[in-house]
Amino acid sequence: MFCLYTIVTQRSIPKRTVHKRDRLSVEPVFQSLQEIMAAIPDEQSAIDAFTARRWQKGAFCPHCGSERIYHFSDRRTHKCGECRKRFSIKVGTAFEGTKVGLRECMLAVWLMTRKDAKVTSAQLARDIGVTQKTAWHMLRRMRRVRWSRYLGQFGH
Ligand SMILES: [Zn+2]
Repeated sequence: MFCLYTIVTQRSIPKRTVHKRDRLSVEPVFQSLQEIMAAIPDEQSAIDAFTARRWQKGAFCPHCGSERIYHFSDRRTHKCGECRKRFSIKVGTAFEGTKVGLRECMLAVWLMTRKDAKVTSAQLARDIGVTQKTAWHMLRRMRRVRWSRYLGQFGH
């Protein structure tokens, strides 16, 4: 089972309400790497898929929890009607602030959460097409999340 929510951290989520909303139900999504790669062939489809999943109960601001959200026409930028901050769907996840695409992040989480997973940075770099240095940083971020309170949602 692959849970997109595994890449969501409690860091930078100030309100309980937001926190709760980020802990939506876990259900199997992708059974194989081929399946997930086909489902998110490019960055925009990855953003759309993750957005639909994270906001399945409605859009909310990752900064203040407000539900008054404006969506930009680029389909990846949002703005809060309360705190006025701009944000992407990646804000509030383990990959907030990285230049790594959401598609690569999702693939990396999928690879990392396989039952038999023993992912090295060299392997991850080859699998998702990033440099080993980038892969190393991604693994570090994911491992940090792994031991957070979201641990229960981690895995297949
Ligand atoms: Zn806000």
